[in-house]
Amino acid sequence: MKKVVVITTGGTIAMKSGQEGQGLVPAVGGGELLAAVPALSDVADLKVLEFANLPSGHITPAMMLELACLVDRQASRSDVDGIVITHGTDTLEETVYLLDLVVRTEKPVCITGAMRGASEPGGDGPANLLAAVRTAADDYAGGRGALLVFNDEIHAAAEVTKTHTTSCAAFASPGWGPIGHVYFDRVLFKRQPEKAVKLRPGKLVEDVYLLKVVAGMDDFLFRCLADKPAGGLVVEALGCGNVTPLVKTGIEKVRACGIPVVLASRTHAGRVVEAYSYPGSAKSMQGSGLIFADDITGPKARIKLMLALGLTNDVEEIAKFFK
Ligand code: ASP
Repeated sequence: MKKVVVITTGGTIAMKSGQEGQGLVPAVGGGELLAAVPALSDVADLKVLEFANLPSGHITPAMMLELACLVDRQASRSDVDGIVITHGTDTLEETVYLLDLVVRTEKPVCITGAMRGASEPGGDGPANLLAAVRTAADDYAGGRGALLVFNDEIHAAAEVTKTHTTSCAAFASPGWGPIGHVYFDRVLFKRQPEKAVKLRPGKLVEDVYLLKVVAGMDDFLFRCLADKPAGGLVVEALGCGNVTPLVKTGIEKVRACGIPVVLASRTHAGRVVEAYSYPGSAKSMQGSGLIFADDITGPKARIKLMLALGLTNDVEEIAKFFK
């Protein structure tokens, strides 16, 4: 039987409501989480490690990096075949992407969570945990980077995003779809995700900001970041990478201070491309040394920039990580 380590970090999967009419709070330890799913013992030999028991909004990128190092340490053991992580869903896409960029192991690394708490009727946590363990124990799950397993779907780290506030089908990979499915009788992969270019700094740079461009936006927030000065900035632009004329001015001010700026798109699929030449288009800002995020979302571009800045301040070097 395969040996799988389950690392728990918290999230709704480990929450119960304290009293009648009260909201969910962290309540379930790692042992209890596993004990609630007796079918797990038919799938793998499990060992549980408690990393944290926090809502995912309390998990910082520095903690995600620490988690990635723990994953690699565990995966390097000859008596470990795969890793499962339980995590809150709110920042799950950031953690899975950081793991994808940092973790070196070729053994399966699967992350999951739940939309309903452990005390709620029809909770999805047990089914998601079982699906994640089955995937981590599958012979074909290795070498595919960090995988997000949710609602019996398997998603690639670079493609997946949370698309619903409460539905149990909360995750999707817009423009791509899942890379595989977990069926009752087998795990089935349909395609191989692109391999991540690995980044592994000892420490990441935390003061990297994300600004979303909206109609009529001015340069106020950009001036604040230039004055701070921030470690880095990701701009979630309109469409294929366009911004308002005043945001263009703001970005140029930030760049003039030497702050690396990455241009992503606020749409959910597709690449940043230089399709236009009017003021505010991606092409019109090329001269200021912007880095294009390609097709990753703003939050993922921020994670990548934080890691890259932990290795170098050279914008040309950083840009290579986004190609
Ligand atoms: N607020 C929760 C969290 O991210 C949501 C969840 O786990 O689904 O921790």
